[in-house]
Amino acid sequence: MTTHFAPFTDLEDVEQAPCGTWLGETSELSGDWSKVNCMLCQKHKAKIIAAAAAEERFIVEQMGDMAAFMRAEA
Ligand SMILES: [Zn+2]
Repeated sequence: MTTHFAPFTDLEDVEQAPCGTWLGETSELSGDWSKVNCMLCQKHKAKIIAAAAAEERFIVEQMGDMAAFMRAEA
């Protein structure tokens, strides 16, 4: 059993781990690095965390834009 890192474990349609591995029945996902035993995920840990943080920033920015837009409309 290989556990890959995934920041969003609640998504059911995740087919590929952040390290690029296609998920199968022997693959698990965890947001807890201490449970991640995939060598690729561990190797690219810094990059995967940076990518997840960038995505989070992007979502927050989008939400900020939307709030600004709604304020402008009101
Ligand atoms: Zn992995």
